[in-house]
Amino acid sequence: MLDDRPIAAIATAPGKGAIGVVRLSSPSLTALDAVVDAVIGRKLLPRQAHYGPFRAADGGAIDMGLALLFPAPASYTGEHVLELQGHGGPVVQRMLLARVLEAGREHGLRLAEPGEFTERAFLNDKLDLAQAEAVADLIEASTEQAARSATRSLSGVFSGRIDSLAERLLELRMLVEATLDFPEEEIEFLESANALPRLAAIEADLDAVLATARQGALLREGLTVALVGAPNVGKSSLLNALAGAEVAIVTPIAGTTRDRVRERIAIDGVPLNLVDTAGLRDTDDPVERIGIERTWAEIEQADVVLHLVAAGDDLEAAAQIGVAAGAGTAPEVAAGVRDQALWEAISRRAPARAARLVVINKIDLTGLSPGEYRAGADAEADAGAVVGVRLSAKTGAGIDALRQTLLAIAGYQPGAEDIFAARGRHLEALREARAHIERACERGRQGDTALDLFAEELRLAHAALGRITGAVTADDLLGVIFSRFCIGK
Ligand code: GDP
Repeated sequence: MLDDRPIAAIATAPGKGAIGVVRLSSPSLTALDAVVDAVIGRKLLPRQAHYGPFRAADGGAIDMGLALLFPAPASYTGEHVLELQGHGGPVVQRMLLARVLEAGREHGLRLAEPGEFTERAFLNDKLDLAQAEAVADLIEASTEQAARSATRSLSGVFSGRIDSLAERLLELRMLVEATLDFPEEEIEFLESANALPRLAAIEADLDAVLATARQGALLREGLTVALVGAPNVGKSSLLNALAGAEVAIVTPIAGTTRDRVRERIAIDGVPLNLVDTAGLRDTDDPVERIGIERTWAEIEQADVVLHLVAAGDDLEAAAQIGVAAGAGTAPEVAAGVRDQALWEAISRRAPARAARLVVINKIDLTGLSPGEYRAGADAEADAGAVVGVRLSAKTGAGIDALRQTLLAIAGYQPGAEDIFAARGRHLEALREARAHIERACERGRQGDTALDLFAEELRLAHAALGRITGAVTADDLLGVIFSRFCIGK
């Protein structure tokens, strides 16, 4: 963990803007007073805007702006917080920050680490862990729906659901553990405390939370869709048709450099990372190789592989990849030999859970109607199964069916209003809690009288829920979560 010395940072985005904010948070008033004294030169009243010069060491003005003081605990971090709102230029902001750090140095003031303001808010109980994560998710949201769901989590909707589940589990745990001291009563306990029906009710509610959280995680993380196919089958055209007006905002999140082969779009607010694999080929060019390796890395993360073929190209090759049209007669399926090799390579590298979808483009050239068809001998709707869609990127026919198919693969229910943002970490904890509850139920149903084992499952389920809001956390988890924030948040 980091130390609790006073911290300061530029809180606004880098670059030019109307306003730039330098923020300082300090557990003691001494450091903050020293900075106010040196930079503002007069006393500040709590939560009142004071306009005036921000002074350099030589007394000259660095900038003119507003100073705001939020005494503890009524502040973002729960500590004493000072905000200096000046002009949003990178140079003037850096000068102001340097001046603030210098003025507070003898009191231990230092530059904040990424996420450290929010981490302090968490440590001071201003936010729980799921809410703190929602702060980052809100900042990084790439669609309106994702932003709305992050705000719901930030306002405590998700945490509230978790807390209520945890509380009900805790009540049951207390009952069970009280009974453990009286072995002769163990046998009747489950019945007299109505334990199993109560546990079943908790499990049902947990399932509902899990379903909503899955949607939230989907809005946050989106689906990775690998687009494969020979040149000229219409990949770019399809991408544009899918994107329509709904192009997701590409945010400068650390680590997600925007490659030429990657497009971020949205369907009904669900972000889709489309990975164009056209560049996959053997090459000696080291730069191209790096790009290709990156594309493969994306495919290994793919949720969906979309294999695009153009109607009427090459029936024989199409038959080889096992793509037979539902009706079986129309000359609608095509894929070149190169497609075949690519398809096999991608099938090998894509995760087993990835859905594979054959898309037959350019059906406007064939007179066929768009829609879904079943491809392959046993096209079940399982993960990994091959299903197909016929469409025309040019006329737009069938595009909507593809959109709905992609959403269905993602398990997304359009129109749901009460979604809260959630992360993979939360889903994992929810699933773990559910597994322990299920095991406890099983023991109870089988008339297993070892009440201590029943109690242990409840304890593990309770602990898993506690990890979501941070009621139970390991320090290393906190480090991972907060280090991914931007500086100054
Ligand atoms: P890419 O190389 O796979 O990205 O393919 P493009 O999107 O650049 O399309 C290649 C050519 O096919 C262009 O001339 C498109 O206008 C044309 N094309 C794409 N989709 C369709 C379609 O649905 N019907 C018809 N008739 N032409 C299409």
